[in-house]
Amino acid sequence: MSVVAVGGLAHCENFVQHEDEVKKTKHPLTIPTGSVQVRVRVGRYRNGTVAHIDTGQIRAVDGVLQTTKSIKSLFDQRDSSHFFSKTSKQFTVGVSEKQKVVTGELHIHVRPDIGKQDFDIVAHVPIEQYLPGVLAGELYAHWHPDTFAAQAVAARSYAIVQHLNRHKTSHFDVTDGPSSQMFLGDVTLEAAHKATKDTESVILTWNNTVVPAYYSACCGGSAASALDAISGSSQHDITPLYGRKGNDVCASLEASTWRATRSSRLFRKRLNASAKHLKLPELETIRSIRSIEPCEHNKHGRPTKLIIKDRRRNGYIVNAKDFVSAANASVSSLPMPGDPVWSSTLSCSKTGSDLTFKGRGLGHGVGLCQYGAQELAGQNNTWKDILQWYYPNASIQTV
Ligand SMILES: [Zn+2]
Repeated sequence: MSVVAVGGLAHCENFVQHEDEVKKTKHPLTIPTGSVQVRVRVGRYRNGTVAHIDTGQIRAVDGVLQTTKSIKSLFDQRDSSHFFSKTSKQFTVGVSEKQKVVTGELHIHVRPDIGKQDFDIVAHVPIEQYLPGVLAGELYAHWHPDTFAAQAVAARSYAIVQHLNRHKTSHFDVTDGPSSQMFLGDVTLEAAHKATKDTESVILTWNNTVVPAYYSACCGGSAASALDAISGSSQHDITPLYGRKGNDVCASLEASTWRATRSSRLFRKRLNASAKHLKLPELETIRSIRSIEPCEHNKHGRPTKLIIKDRRRNGYIVNAKDFVSAANASVSSLPMPGDPVWSSTLSCSKTGSDLTFKGRGLGHGVGLCQYGAQELAGQNNTWKDILQWYYPNASIQTV
């Protein structure tokens, strides 16, 4: 009896302490209660580049923003380093040859951390209004409504996670390009609006937190885990991001395969040049490449490490993520990389002075596979089926 009483008390104390800890350290990805305004960086202006907004222009000179008269009144809130419109309006924004129409609050931030003539343009857009511009940029217009709906839920979850992670530390949550998710601004594409409406406020959750719902164009058949392919953050250490078991339907699609031919010498130089950025000093010492091949795989069969051997028969083992990044890196002293190395699921052969890569999959392979989702939708799977396949055990929740 006393054993039970002591045990019970101890349990009770532990429980109280645990509750306190939970209150103190709220999970950063706790499902938000209010609506989210996504802060999208729609323009990145460097080295004195002039931005066009509606009929006016804006630039940064010595860390101070200057506008032409015609748009001065647009920015009713301003100090020298931050202009913004207090009300939501439709703007045309971009450089002279490439502009985007976007409705929201427009914020201009100088970037003295980068340079005195540098600034960012950030649109604050309510999330449901933001999503059609993402879907129109991420998917082919003729794709299946269920592909659009699954993508809408993934993109909504992803944007909310970016907002929760960055709202206190950065002036933007997402960019409008492929390193984040595409955003075309205001769009008329019916399929994009319908999918947003049909999935309104639906996100992927895991233990009452929002799932960072990464996705890529094509996994090539085998899933990557976010811990391997994105980063070692504890936010990635969750079941929905470990990768599903089993081959994906995309494996049989021709679109999932690629080929790249590169000069062996320039490829080696690119790896050398990426040593610093990737913090892998040994890459700098690679000499003439003899072979490149996957040497370690995850439990789904996707390469996680590759070994590069050079003419001295030295072997360099590189994480798949770092290899793909180095292979496609822009290096100022070298010509542009040429044919992209799209994924780490690859084989490589050397013929003369060239390396020829043959591979499968486009992108990091974590979470939803866009080509696979389209294939599944064509086989009568619903958007919920698609999400359950790509994010195992995640809840599909309306918030
Ligand atoms: Zn796939």
